[in-house]
Amino acid sequence: MAWKIVIAGGGFGGFYAARSLERALPPQSTKITIVNDVNFMLYAPLLPGAAAGSLEPRHVVVPLREELRTTDLRLGRVMGATPERNALQVRSMAGRTEDLHYDQLVVALGSVSRTLPIEGLAEHALGFKSLPDAIALRNHLIQTLEAAETLEDAAERTAWLTYVFVGAGYAGLEGLAELQDFAADVIQLYPRCRTQGMRWMLVEARDRIMPEIPASLAEFAARELRGRGIEIRTGTTLERLTATEARLSGGEVVPTRTLVWTAGVKPPAVIERLGLPLEQGRIATDATMRVRDHRNVWAIGDSAAVPDPAQKGAAPCPPTAQHAIRQGRLVGRNVAAELGAGRVRPFRYKTKGVFVDMGQGEAVATTLGIRWRGRTAWWLARSYHLAMLPGNKRRLRLLIDWNIQLMFGRDASELGRLGHPERLADQTAGGEPAREDVTATAPAAPS
Ligand SMILES: Cc1cc2nc3c(=O)[nH]c(=O)nc-3n(C[C@H](O)[C@H](O)[C@H](O)COP(=O)(O)OP(=O)(O)OC[C@H]3O[C@@H](n4cnc5c(N)ncnc54)[C@H](O)[C@@H]3O)c2cc1C
Repeated sequence: MAWKIVIAGGGFGGFYAARSLERALPPQSTKITIVNDVNFMLYAPLLPGAAAGSLEPRHVVVPLREELRTTDLRLGRVMGATPERNALQVRSMAGRTEDLHYDQLVVALGSVSRTLPIEGLAEHALGFKSLPDAIALRNHLIQTLEAAETLEDAAERTAWLTYVFVGAGYAGLEGLAELQDFAADVIQLYPRCRTQGMRWMLVEARDRIMPEIPASLAEFAARELRGRGIEIRTGTTLERLTATEARLSGGEVVPTRTLVWTAGVKPPAVIERLGLPLEQGRIATDATMRVRDHRNVWAIGDSAAVPDPAQKGAAPCPPTAQHAIRQGRLVGRNVAAELGAGRVRPFRYKTKGVFVDMGQGEAVATTLGIRWRGRTAWWLARSYHLAMLPGNKRRLRLLIDWNIQLMFGRDASELGRLGHPERLADQTAGGEPAREDVTATAPAAPS
């Protein structure tokens, strides 16, 4: 009889867990199933490139069916679990909820944006966590330029041409830098907007940006952004948001129709329905990634509280792809060990390097204690992602996209309705085609 191994979540952690299991166990003795709500793994560090239009959206994802050899992909949504029956509840694409039974379960369900109870935030802010978020943001940005260009009154244009990012971690800083770079290119096509100029702002509650990197590099990144005219407000929080303005702590009111919320992540709600112990909302594990009090359940990545070896286990690992990848590889080997092939080992990885790509050929990085900045760091960051992206075909596509952008610049077409065509009934009714409403801050439908 073959062992049934189920992996819930096919992102960084789940994908590498499946790969490592495929290598560690003979296919005739195991049946590995990965459950994911999309049929690809999103390579999130490339998301800012997709948002800025320098990367084709399909080139920042890894199709799971192509890259996994013997693992069975079950497309569906994990709805909950009953660990005492070794069952995971999965809603299939056909809309049926079924029990998926396992001998070993690995939970790798990632995270969602962490919002706060700030008036107007949920209604008017944009997220920057998924591919639809990234493409919607790009389309929204182009729509704001199109809208501003139609206005005679410069004062009225201000809110359309002001872009605020709240949260200066990876997603906020890289997202803002890439999008500002993109906007600076395409604004040349909008004479009124070009004459007026744009306003970009990064708001951070802590007293510095990018806590993930050394203070001197963060300061370099801040200087670089300020040099591009980006305003940075540290020690500042968002207090209220409407469709047309954001109020910051200290009383400043910023007229804006674009506020992007990148202030942290939390585990998805389904984590609470798995019947597993939690620690600060994440699944509690020991150093080997085994879930506390559950011999055959493991948890990794953003949704797990795996003790961080860099902090001697005093706090959970930070929610980064670097950690999820290493946890995925090791949990595969640990599950195999549990089934008789090898020895279960603790997670020992400590961050060896960090890259922050800021577009325009600028980046900051640390690798093995050495600090890099400017063009060298940018080149290192790109080489790193090129090496880490799974699959040679994907790497080649990435390389081609980067070079095409360097040669031909950006494209300003706004394809928000792609994948959301007008219904045949509406077309034949002869009325005006429905248009996305950009008067609200919320984005148009993603392509
Ligand atoms: C814009 C951005 C830039 C980033 N840049 C970096 C960087 O440069 N370096 C770095 O180390 N980290 C970076 N990160 C963080 C990194 O992406 C995450 O830490 C990493 O993806 C976590 O891996 P994971 O496997 O836990 O989750 P994920 O990779 O998010 O995978 C979770 C998977 O589970 C699926 N899923 C969720 N719920 C369900 C459900 N109920 N049913 C079925 N499937 C479900 C999701 O669709 C997803 O495929 C960045 C993140 C963002 C948003």
